[in-house]
Amino acid sequence: MDDIKRMTLAEALAGLRAKRFSSVELTQALLGVMEPSQKNIHAFVTIDAEGALKAAAEADRRRAAGEDAPLLGAPIAMKDNMNVLGQPCTASSRILEGYVAPYDATVTARLRAAGAIFLGRTNMDEFALGSTTQTSGFGPTENPVARGCIPGGSSGGSAAAVGGGLALAALGTDTGGSIRQPASHCGIVGVKPTYGLVSRYGVVACASSLDQVGPMTKTVEDAALLMDVLAGHDPLDATSLDVPLPRLAGCWAGMDPARPLAGMTLGLPKEYFGDGLDPEVRALTEQAAKRAEALGATLREVSLPHAGYGIPTYYICMTAEVSANLARFDGVRYGLRVPREEVLAQYRDTRAQGFGAEVKRRVLLGTFVLSSGYYDAYYNRAQKVRTLIRRDFEQAFAGCDLLLAPVTPEPAWPLGVYQDDPIRNYLSDVLTVGANLAGCCAIAIPAGATAAGKPVGLQLLGPNLGEATLFRAAHALELR
Ligand code: GLN
Repeated sequence: MDDIKRMTLAEALAGLRAKRFSSVELTQALLGVMEPSQKNIHAFVTIDAEGALKAAAEADRRRAAGEDAPLLGAPIAMKDNMNVLGQPCTASSRILEGYVAPYDATVTARLRAAGAIFLGRTNMDEFALGSTTQTSGFGPTENPVARGCIPGGSSGGSAAAVGGGLALAALGTDTGGSIRQPASHCGIVGVKPTYGLVSRYGVVACASSLDQVGPMTKTVEDAALLMDVLAGHDPLDATSLDVPLPRLAGCWAGMDPARPLAGMTLGLPKEYFGDGLDPEVRALTEQAAKRAEALGATLREVSLPHAGYGIPTYYICMTAEVSANLARFDGVRYGLRVPREEVLAQYRDTRAQGFGAEVKRRVLLGTFVLSSGYYDAYYNRAQKVRTLIRRDFEQAFAGCDLLLAPVTPEPAWPLGVYQDDPIRNYLSDVLTVGANLAGCCAIAIPAGATAAGKPVGLQLLGPNLGEATLFRAAHALELR
């Protein structure tokens, strides 16, 4: 088998189809790199070697019988907040320790129907609240490329698994940047689809008006392969869109290879290039813009006038929704129970013991902004500002096809730094929360590295359901 750590999903599928190797061999090779990496990288909270090998053998039998399917025999890693029947699903929280998924999430069911097999569950910030994977109840993940640094988060385990060559591809969730930011820090591709394009049924809810599931892969081609399987209407998710979807895999075919971006206008939002942007991140983003121009794109400066309100708006809306969504973890139905005679004492002690500090902080903030007397001043006002932010994007997209911007203001920082500084962490989401507040689609692709070798991503943002254009440009601009 070729170098397993560098193999893409597309290469693995080609190898399986050509019978160069079996799914069992592929799975064994991946398990062989995953298991030893656990003591330093710690990308996984659960590795299901037995289940994966059994499913791989079954995939090999189906292939030997002449069957094929888009992902037949391909192992995929799943973030620990989506149900995979029979595997633990804890959202990296102690409160859900021991909880085993009783059914497949829709994304899991779709992957399974396409023939994928499930290797294990990737580490994450507890309940997806964070941007470093250090709030995990089961210990942090280390960046496999920028060693000693955070992998980003909250989908940091998925990013580290793919960036470190421990998984061919993974799924993550993005509420305010949790796919794009870790993808950027680990040198991989991460997609935040248009809100409603991918079902959230069976995914542990974080902030429901913002959450989307998406692929995290080594290449744009691999992300397109997965999106074609994941996207689509699901009657089990009330926010799921029922719209015709263009096929994304190969949607770049037929473009002039010398000038694939001819006719495309890319907007550079000036507020995303302001003070506080690391000089190396700025330089790499500007280089990417120049490459886009050389590939035929027209560049234009655009404005998102309310971008400065993104962080306060996001942290009001998201904490409000988190406080409501996490109310279900009270020791009655799921996971940990601290038994007490009196029911309120049982809720209190279960939540006090089961939740980590960041989860408690968000629940307290969210409860505050929703409380009577403050509801209008915070929650209602944030909803109004959210509308203004969405209109900013609509207006920007009236004059250009996509936006081009950095993903994060700075490269990955060392593990342990800023850990006790929540505001510092929150501010690092300034360039990613806009897409979630507006609902539009966005992708992070590798754009190079700093002098110290830390990966830096480039962000492209597209209008609602603009995935085909987004993927065409991303395919032309990704650096491998
Ligand atoms: N870093 C952001 C936060 O802490 C985003 C999290 C996410 O997208 N799940 O809320």
